[in-house]
Amino acid sequence: MRTNFRFAVAVLLMSILSARGADQTIVLKAARMFDGKTNSLVQNATVVVLGDKIVDVGSGLTNPPDAQVVDLGDVTLSPGFMDAHSHVTLQFWGAFSQRRLDELDLNVSEHAIRSTMYARATLEAGFTTIRDLGSRFVGSPERVDVALRNAINKGYVVGPRMLVATKGIGATGGHFDPSSGFRDMLFGREPDEADGIADGPEAIRKAVRMEVKNGADVIKAAVSGGVLSLADEVDTPQFTPEEMKALVDECHRLRKKVAVHCHGDQAAKDAIAAGVDSIEHGSFLKPDTLQMMKAKGTYLVPTLMATEWIMGKIDNYPPALQAKAKAAGAARSEMFRNAVKLGVKIGLGTDSAVFPHGMNAKEFKLMVDLGMPAIDALKAGTSADADLLGIANKVGTLEKGKLADIVAVPGDPTQDITATERVTFVMKEGKIIRNGTPPFQVSARSTSEEPASLPAD
Ligand SMILES: [Zn+2]
Repeated sequence: MRTNFRFAVAVLLMSILSARGADQTIVLKAARMFDGKTNSLVQNATVVVLGDKIVDVGSGLTNPPDAQVVDLGDVTLSPGFMDAHSHVTLQFWGAFSQRRLDELDLNVSEHAIRSTMYARATLEAGFTTIRDLGSRFVGSPERVDVALRNAINKGYVVGPRMLVATKGIGATGGHFDPSSGFRDMLFGREPDEADGIADGPEAIRKAVRMEVKNGADVIKAAVSGGVLSLADEVDTPQFTPEEMKALVDECHRLRKKVAVHCHGDQAAKDAIAAGVDSIEHGSFLKPDTLQMMKAKGTYLVPTLMATEWIMGKIDNYPPALQAKAKAAGAARSEMFRNAVKLGVKIGLGTDSAVFPHGMNAKEFKLMVDLGMPAIDALKAGTSADADLLGIANKVGTLEKGKLADIVAVPGDPTQDITATERVTFVMKEGKIIRNGTPPFQVSARSTSEEPASLPAD
């Protein structure tokens, strides 16, 4: 009896303590703050966090009693960064042929275990939310992105909040066809709707329904050719206008946003007319197409890091892919400058996996180098992405009632945008993930295909 009584008291005390622990108020203090929406920084900033939410925010606030005060000094607080185009379950940055071998050699479970490392590196680099736009393993039905998202939500794995697209939808022989470029019928059958491969409006509707059934938060479709696929041209349309309409209609009917991989101009025109929510990449888009996007409110997610990385390692790719990468790389800078000039809505997305996870913030500088004001690049990676992802009511700005996803960068990122690459503090949903410690990095040693001679960046 006595032991039982003691045990009951101990349990009661522990539950009281843990409840109080969850309610501990945290006050973050910093020299400056970017709130996600305003064009100027707030000086002498304070953000008050209780549980998983921001309860107060402003300049020179007095500390609530009993709060844990974290004075971060000469830094700028920002809403947690977002990447609207990542592939956190994949790794494409090494030698192309080795990657293809790995796809065939490794069990999907090994890919899945690796992805936990990539998720951690992404979060520790300051990206508290990512949209994962495609996770497919040739010859496998596994959906590693769904499993990783769920494991992060349940607290098994440290990583960013994820919105996932599962496999993505594409045409036979198109950019997403996993059997393209392999020997005919190597996998014993042609891929179908269950693999996200669909031809004709009805098959596309079925593919959308299957992806939603299997856990997709967002639908991704490849409507033009791509750079890193072997059997297509980079800018050809891969869906007819009727297929495009069916895709968008089915997605929006099921209240899912639709993001389309699209380098080509004609494919983009058809996609924008059909009402897609974002054009991903957009390398060859002409000014009149960008004008259509502006009029319709379609987002552009330019993924400049992807072309930047591929161009820097061009010898790693077969000649046919080198030619496609060069063409896309040559076109995308002018396209991006035009989009900025015309005032097209722009979200930050990187295509991480094409380069090592955790380097996502380099996208900010590429955007600024091509004419985007630093404050707008910061908005692209916070509030604009939150709007594009449909989660602006929860994250993307530092405001009362929002989830406490907060990062700090040294100095003033509007003066030196590369400060975003040196995040010193990360909080996700009110929990401090990092404060001053070096970020977890995906090193050359942690991957099999990264030859030791390749530089780490
Ligand atoms: Zn991608």
